[in-house]
Amino acid sequence: MRSGDADIRSLCGVGEQRARALARLGIRTVGDLMYFFPKDYIALRDIPPVHKASHGEKTSLVGTVVSAVRVNRPRPGFSVSTAAVDGDRGRAECVWFNKPYLKTTLRQGSRWLFIGTLDTRMGALRILNPVMESLDDGAPAPILPQYRLARGLTQKALRALVRQGLTRAARETLPPSFRKRYELAERGFALENIHFPVNAEALGFARRRLAFEELLMYVIALRSQREMRAGGSGVVMRVLDEELTRFTDGLPFPLTGAQRRVLREIARDMASPAAMNRLVQGDVGSGKTVLAMAALYIAARSGMQGALMAPTEILAEQHRRTAEALLVPHGIRVGMLTGGMRAAERRVALAALAEGAWDVVIGTHALIQPGVVYRSLGIVITDEQHRFGVAQRAALGEKGARPDMLVMSATPIPRTLALILYGDLDISLVDELPPGRRPVITRIVPGRKRDDMYRYIAERLVAGEQAYIICPLVEDSEKVDSLSATGLYEELVRGALRNVSVGLLHGRMAASDKEALLARFRLGEMRALVATTVVEVGVDVPAASIIVVENADRFGLAQLHQLRGRVGRGQTQSWCFLAPGEAGEDAMRRLSVMAATCDGFAIAQKDLEMRGPGEFLGQQQAGMTDPRVLALLRDVRILAEVREAADRLFEAGADPAEREAILTEALGAYEERMRGIVFN
Ligand code: ADP
Ligand code: MG
Repeated sequence: MRSGDADIRSLCGVGEQRARALARLGIRTVGDLMYFFPKDYIALRDIPPVHKASHGEKTSLVGTVVSAVRVNRPRPGFSVSTAAVDGDRGRAECVWFNKPYLKTTLRQGSRWLFIGTLDTRMGALRILNPVMESLDDGAPAPILPQYRLARGLTQKALRALVRQGLTRAARETLPPSFRKRYELAERGFALENIHFPVNAEALGFARRRLAFEELLMYVIALRSQREMRAGGSGVVMRVLDEELTRFTDGLPFPLTGAQRRVLREIARDMASPAAMNRLVQGDVGSGKTVLAMAALYIAARSGMQGALMAPTEILAEQHRRTAEALLVPHGIRVGMLTGGMRAAERRVALAALAEGAWDVVIGTHALIQPGVVYRSLGIVITDEQHRFGVAQRAALGEKGARPDMLVMSATPIPRTLALILYGDLDISLVDELPPGRRPVITRIVPGRKRDDMYRYIAERLVAGEQAYIICPLVEDSEKVDSLSATGLYEELVRGALRNVSVGLLHGRMAASDKEALLARFRLGEMRALVATTVVEVGVDVPAASIIVVENADRFGLAQLHQLRGRVGRGQTQSWCFLAPGEAGEDAMRRLSVMAATCDGFAIAQKDLEMRGPGEFLGQQQAGMTDPRVLALLRDVRILAEVREAADRLFEAGADPAEREAILTEALGAYEERMRGIVFN
């Protein structure tokens, strides 16, 4: 939803039925329609006419349908429709598979442009599965947009609606001086040309303008939020060096050099009266948790409360155990607050926070609900930040008077992107793994080797090792998800893994059951855990040394890297088996990246190259930027330009009118999106 947006039914020709069809594409307003960009374009100039094309080539044909469409059904469930077309340069046949309904569309005598693949094998000229454009209303545009369709809509109808929408003047959001400096087209021109480009160059300008604006508004919103938090007095939390040493000496291991450096950065920020806004980036397994614990320790020692928010209950519970081991021995009082708690427990927790009976609280989203009041919140830490939007981060920050904010990210991302996504944060890098880690050996297991794999795993489990076996989320249905994990579980306990104890863990189980199961796995009583991606983030069972990812092709690289990070945490050589389902070539290329390296930053870089910056960024975002617009981003260099533009706007010498105009737009857009995020 964008500001000043009219309902889609305000367009001519959109009644209830068509509105429903459009809603299936996520289009409810005229603004939605304007941002429903073509998935592809056909440039007529680039397509040879049928008499110049050769077999197997893309070709075009302009002509009249000379007889009714013939539909053959050579076998059940399969139909072939053929139209004879009298072309401007001779006759040809157009052939479609499984589109019998074309019979009603392609009326005898109607004129069309057909674009498809030329087939000359049968002697006659045939065009296979062409897309078509009606020519009865005149010549087509030189570049034809192709939209994703839903039942009840045609390209032609959608295009007519878009044209109609475009006649409503697009509001300009960027001042002319700014547009000129960064060579950005006007917004009206951009929207017009993203749908109906006059040429390739205009399309390029349109993409640039829209993607630039989207990123700019995001970065500006982040920055101004930070400006608002800056200045004035935040909390000063300082401990003596000896006191911090008491904490580090109590750890079961010496900190790595990188951990020590980042801890110094954190301690310095906490001691300063300015509010901390720091991101700790580090590869999975680099030991970020202990840094969070150290920050909580410093806060508690300074008489302030600290909150640690995790994206799942499992992870929150794990952090509570860590806090119990690392903080409680120092007399720090630790509590827990999650959504799954009973009312009575919750009341106790709320009272403890309000009265200051707890120094540290660990929890989930429940920590940022209205009604949760802290006595003296000094620091807020969010773990696995990529799972939380900026909005949640901000909401937790509002619980105290300018608390310090520390964000732990598990997804390594290339620096250029980090500067945009986390433009409001200082970045600390934990770029060293604890000693003794051996890279996880990763194998792609084809279907025919799957049984061998499970036999091998069974042997290792009997010999004392432990394994995670992961099933993907199927579509977005929780039900199907837990079912498929259930199905695999049943297959394994009856089959390959019948001689070892196996557990089943999925998101729909009660929190206490999950925890009980995980506890048994942690103790080694349970040797294998069939699980959904509930274990993806943060789960730390150092003894586990094998992970299988079923249908691995369904996961993104970042997710696979996270999953693989569950193993390789102890001294034993660990293994990761990626079992693709019916993976296509693209999926296999992605999986081979996993087999080639264990370095999260290298994987992220590859991911970025393979998917392009738009899609990559879109996935990192919890709803703050518009993935449809980010998808327009073709050129990574725009990121640096946006960053530079934002820097300039916040400089002392910036043109105040320009700055004001852009800030107003950015905050407006940001606020709207904030409202769209539900806290639950
Ligand atoms: P992540 O950075 O992925 O959150 P964790 O904080 O869960 O990683 O740490 C991974 C594992 O490494 C944990 O079992 C933790 O106890 C261990 N660990 C952390 N720091 C060190 C260290 N300096 N030396 C040895 N082991 C460490
Ligand atoms: Mg972690």
